[in-house]
Amino acid sequence: MRWLAWSFWLLALAMAFPRVGVHQGFTRLVFDLPSAQVDYRLEVQEGLLTLTFPGLSVGASDTLVNSPEVASVQVVPGKGEVRVLVRTRGAVEVKASRYQDPERLVLDIALKGETPAKPKAPDPPKTQAPRPPRPVVLLDPGHGGIDPGMVGYVVEKEAVLDVALRLKRFLEREGIEVRLTRDRDIHLSPDKRTDLSMRASMADSSRVNLFVSIHVNATPTRTARGVEVFYFGRSPDPRILAQVIRENGGGEVGKRLTQEARSVAERILSDIVAQANQRFSQRLAETLGRHLSQATGSPYRGSFPGDFFVLRYARVPAVLVEIGFGDHPVEGRNLADPAYREKVAQGLLAGVLTFLGNGAFAR
Ligand SMILES: [Zn+2]
Repeated sequence: MRWLAWSFWLLALAMAFPRVGVHQGFTRLVFDLPSAQVDYRLEVQEGLLTLTFPGLSVGASDTLVNSPEVASVQVVPGKGEVRVLVRTRGAVEVKASRYQDPERLVLDIALKGETPAKPKAPDPPKTQAPRPPRPVVLLDPGHGGIDPGMVGYVVEKEAVLDVALRLKRFLEREGIEVRLTRDRDIHLSPDKRTDLSMRASMADSSRVNLFVSIHVNATPTRTARGVEVFYFGRSPDPRILAQVIRENGGGEVGKRLTQEARSVAERILSDIVAQANQRFSQRLAETLGRHLSQATGSPYRGSFPGDFFVLRYARVPAVLVEIGFGDHPVEGRNLADPAYREKVAQGLLAGVLTFLGNGAFAR
């Protein structure tokens, strides 16, 4: 009997936790549990459900679900408990039911005001084919209008807009919906703080799955080349800090906005929800960086945390990608070349597709 219980425990852990099913009018999460003794707490907030399972041990995981009701599910193991963060698309109604043989907790999540088709008791473990809506990617070509960004062999605001428009075409061809923070040479506000806040708030739409801000790099020595990708977090490295200040508007404005972003980054250290999204963003940064480097031949310099104002409150995977150094004699000229920009867009496309497809989406 003991052996039976043990083998079943292994079986439960070997399956996805939770299993996700997308149905007409609701998303179902099925948590397979090792015994009836495992209890749970459910906390419902606007845009977020938090489930806590005391005494349970499960590995960490991040899953983009992209159903009409649920954006993502993240499993966060802690001391003597497991927390599951379910990002919902606005206000939802949750129906929780326990079933035995096998032991499981079932959550049916529907948008408020929509009555789900009558859910029947779920079958024991079995994969269901979800029908995800089109993913939505928000692209942010940095700077624009009165703010040219870096100026070297290219003008940053022009190069990043061109790359974003190329990437938009590629993504749309793959059935992905694309939104742009700007589609021509404009600033969103002459005030940098307002400008960056307006870009960031577009990522807050409950429909957006990913946020990619596109930039061109520069160094005082004009000798660096390569690809860097940033996700939001404290940047201890002084070199990165200088770059962060530049992208946050430069000069005194840049310093002030960096300070403001830094206080948010410090708060993240005690915020489990923000930390979970940071992990997601880090994975997106790595994926984009490697694919971009592969497509262009530009060296991959790595992914780093940085106090970028435009990323500070992102609730979806959000990164700032520096596609290359516009002041390097070779790379700068490359970035001015339409054929090279096409490769940059192809690299970013491959990165986004890999991130969305690689087990990140529930299947
Ligand atoms: Zn920039």
